[in-house]
Amino acid sequence: MIGERLAAVRARIDAAAKRAGRAPDSVTLVAVSKTKPASDLAEAYAAGQRVFGENYAQELVDKSAALPADIEWHFIGRLQTNKAKYVARVSKMVHAVDSARLAEELGRRAVTRPHRVLEVLIEVNVGGETSKGGVAERDLPSLIATIDSIPSLRLRGLMSIPPHGSNGDEPRKFHRRLRELRDAHGGAIALPVLSMGMTDDLEVAIEEGATMVRVGTAIFGARS
Ligand SMILES: *Cc1c(COP(=O)(O)O)cnc(C)c1O
Repeated sequence: MIGERLAAVRARIDAAAKRAGRAPDSVTLVAVSKTKPASDLAEAYAAGQRVFGENYAQELVDKSAALPADIEWHFIGRLQTNKAKYVARVSKMVHAVDSARLAEELGRRAVTRPHRVLEVLIEVNVGGETSKGGVAERDLPSLIATIDSIPSLRLRGLMSIPPHGSNGDEPRKFHRRLRELRDAHGGAIALPVLSMGMTDDLEVAIEEGATMVRVGTAIFGARS
């Protein structure tokens, strides 16, 4: 069941990439497994999935201990600085860095990693919603500079979560905006990763340049 859903999502990604004139393997699928049991992840793993995204530090720690070592863990949730040490230890990439304080704490914790480098993305609040996480567009340059100054962090790109309830073609303008911001801050050479697009809008995100899509529901089913 999960294997079939995974194949269907992969097919959606491949079709969207082809339509956009991009290579299907230019888009990484992050299987978002928050709240799902390790057995569901094991099923996805058996079907070939190796990149998983988690939102909660404790779940990340528990699942990474229970599942095969060649899984690439991405932390995609909001992260409190007091949990940074657990996340820095097991994650390949942290997607939602949105403050200098969090970056500095991750940087301090990342030095205990085997290669002493943690990959990070900056979450940008493209919708401009006050209630949401993500750095405001005007604060992006200074956060980029902060992260670039921390030797144990490697800034790889930008990430966004469009405002809740945006549908139809609306997500497109937020995805496009994230790409424009990337292009204005060093382009694809400096910031190769654009993490945007989820179950409902992954095609639009890929058309607008997403290199990572974070998909939960379409693979693991609805969350309770
Ligand atoms: C839960 C979550 C997703 C996955 O959303 P779906 O709609 O279930 O695909 C993607 N990104 C983030 C940051 C999430 O928290």
